Amino acid sequence: MHERLESHFETVLARNAGEREFHQAVREVLESLGPVVDKHPEYVDQAVIERLCEPERQLIFRVPWTDDQGRVQVNRAFRVEFNSALGPYKGGLRFHPSVYLGIVKFLGFEQIFKNALTGLPIGGGKGGSDFDPKGRSDAEVMRFCQSLMTELYRHLGEYTDVPAGDIGVGEREIGYLFGQYKRITNRYESGVLTGKGLAYGGSRMRKEATGYGTVIFTEEMLAATGRSISGRRVAVSGSGNVAIYAAEKAIQLGAHVVACSDSGGYVVDEAGLDLDLLREIKEVRRGRLTEYAEARGSARHVAGASVWSESCEVALPCATQNELDAEQAAGLVGNGVIAVAEGANMPCTPEAARIFQDKGVLFGPGKAANAGGVATSALEMQQNASRDSWSAAYTEERLTRIMKGVHERCAVAADEYGQPGNYVAGANISSFLQVADAMLSHGVI
Ligand code: NDP
Repeated sequence: MHERLESHFETVLARNAGEREFHQAVREVLESLGPVVDKHPEYVDQAVIERLCEPERQLIFRVPWTDDQGRVQVNRAFRVEFNSALGPYKGGLRFHPSVYLGIVKFLGFEQIFKNALTGLPIGGGKGGSDFDPKGRSDAEVMRFCQSLMTELYRHLGEYTDVPAGDIGVGEREIGYLFGQYKRITNRYESGVLTGKGLAYGGSRMRKEATGYGTVIFTEEMLAATGRSISGRRVAVSGSGNVAIYAAEKAIQLGAHVVACSDSGGYVVDEAGLDLDLLREIKEVRRGRLTEYAEARGSARHVAGASVWSESCEVALPCATQNELDAEQAAGLVGNGVIAVAEGANMPCTPEAARIFQDKGVLFGPGKAANAGGVATSALEMQQNASRDSWSAAYTEERLTRIMKGVHERCAVAADEYGQPGNYVAGANISSFLQVADAMLSHGVI
């Protein structure tokens, strides 16, 4: 790390003790910014970097709710409004038992840069709760969402802060959250949440956008080196929203997608994943991957293991943070992987990411590769603001253009700062410059 940034990083460590994932996300960005600081010392002189690492506002609150047995349960919820230099805070809500402040801050910090890369006017934020939706009835999920929104609503608004989904938060949860916001405020403010159902202001392609965008970004990286995903063996981790639609787009582009996972293990299906079956199990029944292997003769389920022990040419980690480590990265390289794109946020450990880069594997970091989700959320806000609804084809065309733009911005910045082909440096530098310039224009706030 550049010596002028080291002391800032020390401050981040001291001020945010114990928040391991947040430290990791900040370190990754600061390690890229050395050449920028040499060229533009004003960013350090005017404390832009220190300000960027300190959220504008952090909310932590209690969420009491009653379960189906009549017992009162208490969860903790968070909203970190990290940076509004480019627009209203924008970023999803995650419901998972592992959620604590350090996870929300890492995600919120990443979101600032990701949102800048889309070229759309959105700031960065993130939220969530340690609530575990697994095994909960619809009625319990609804009561939890209503209680959470009863506190959160006062901090939201289409020009203030606009949440969306993430792990454990999909269309069902967004529906309950929107209903409660509308009831409390007595306003039909469609643009206050994204990821809504199509019946009430949702955008076509939002569900598909993150996964599709990840594959479009991958195809751009491959095309830049004269290759394509067509005909290649692809493995995906996770079997949630991002994973399913990454697999779908890869298949559309002619790839052979053979594996996916959940927190219980993974399936390999040499005949190619049957996405209708996967969707039925995961999206409709909210079931487990073991059911996939039971229903399909060509598939085998491996319990308790990581999908990254399987060989593939293109790896799309789409589950969760730090799910792919150095040993697995070395294994993938040994088995001939040529491209890795992070559909999830920070799924590769720093050591794994370094191995891919050192070995010449194309590596698309999450803040670039999975930016299609938030970009399409911003398109949803545009449709809501103009009381309009676009076709799937038009929305996908916009998404494709945006992802090509993200790739272009990363590639140009990497070239300009002397690191051609380094998408991590390119993503961090390009987005930092945009956010930092906006912050400087706004004065010391
Ligand atoms: P979902 O809840 O729809 O799916 C998550 C998937 O990952 C599930 O298959 C889940 O398995 C698996 N998973 C979660 N935690 C673990 C774990 N600790 N170990 C192994 N598998 C795990 O979430 P999304 O698909 O929406 O999100 C996935 C990733 O993509 C996250 O990192 C998210 O931040 C990122 N992302 C999402 C966007 C979106 O638009 N949804 C936008 C940009 C990034 P199980 O069901 O067993 O828990």
